[in-house]
Amino acid sequence: MLPFAPFSLETPDTWATAHDLLADPGARLVAGGTDLLPSMKHRIFRPGVLVSMRRLPGLRTVEETADGGLTIGAGLTLRELSRLAPVRARYPALAAACATVATPTIQATATLGGNIMLDTRCVYYNQPEGWRAGIGGCLKCDGSVCHVAPKGKGCYAAHSADTVPVLWLHGARVVLASADGERTLPMAEMYQDDGIAWLAVRPGEVLTRVLLPAPAATVLHRKARTRAAIDYGYLLVAASRGPEGYRAVVSAVGPRPIEVSGDTPERLAEAAYATVQPLGTHLQPATWRKKMVRVEVRRAAELL
Ligand SMILES: Cc1cc2nc3c(=O)[nH]c(=O)nc-3n(C[C@H](O)[C@H](O)[C@H](O)COP(=O)(O)OP(=O)(O)OC[C@H]3O[C@@H](n4cnc5c(N)ncnc54)[C@H](O)[C@@H]3O)c2cc1C
Ligand code: SF4
Repeated sequence: MLPFAPFSLETPDTWATAHDLLADPGARLVAGGTDLLPSMKHRIFRPGVLVSMRRLPGLRTVEETADGGLTIGAGLTLRELSRLAPVRARYPALAAACATVATPTIQATATLGGNIMLDTRCVYYNQPEGWRAGIGGCLKCDGSVCHVAPKGKGCYAAHSADTVPVLWLHGARVVLASADGERTLPMAEMYQDDGIAWLAVRPGEVLTRVLLPAPAATVLHRKARTRAAIDYGYLLVAASRGPEGYRAVVSAVGPRPIEVSGDTPERLAEAAYATVQPLGTHLQPATWRKKMVRVEVRRAAELL
């Protein structure tokens, strides 16, 4: 078993204390810990202080909004979300996406906020420290070369959070809180094309709520992965059919999910195939994953 490096745990019960603690560059927020703690054991992150969200007020509420939407607290677990009656009735693809994450045990601890803020992943990065040292680390952690694209200057690690493509197609916005106040950001503006700085979030900001408008289209979530549990998807697709035609958001193919549109399932699939360019961040070959983009997007759209 891999041991933790020493750290201290703070469990503030006021937002003022939490923001003070998070002002320390050596501090890091922890929600369910299902992604952060394994990464700490791998020495990917070495925070001196973990700031727990567990006792902070207002993070576990669900409210109906006047326009027929929902406001969901970032501290709700994926299992709670997948079982919530208004989510199952009005956003069934979100409930389905939550139920595909990892395993039921992990879903019972993992939070919505942690899923949206999930780190990007790569086969050269999500490894124990000794494994990474064997290849000299990489640009994203402890090294100076990208093993996926050695001549490039960037990192292409993939964002693989299951809830994100569905929330994106539903037009969700997130509320980010800091000592300076709150701001909202559309999910479609949350991610950047850089595997190291993939979040358009400022230091110290905490995601407190997700604002979901009333559903305007039917949305479907598909996940291609090696085994039917535990494994992350090597390709995530959410597709929708609404008054404006078909749309799809494809994820796990780079730091930023990619949106395409088309007037038929075939044209949507061709648009995705032309736009999405997976790289060698996964065990599955990139050329095969590219072919699977067309297959998975068409399947998703045809099922709508
Ligand atoms: C075996 C295994 C399989 C997995 N499979 C999947 C999978 O298939 N799909 C998938 O999507 N995920 C998967 N995960 C990852 C993880 O379980 C989920 O993404 C989970 O939702 C993360 O939430 P958390 O509350 O545990 O986040 P944490 O681990 O607590 O935090 C993750 C990151 O988000 C930050 N953070 C957390 N909450 C907030 C907030 N409210 N505001 C600002 N920053 C915040 C933390 O600082 C940290 O950097 C898997 C994990 C494991 C161990
Ligand atoms: S894409 Fe390159 S820099 Fe980024 S994690 Fe993978 S190997 Fe490292």
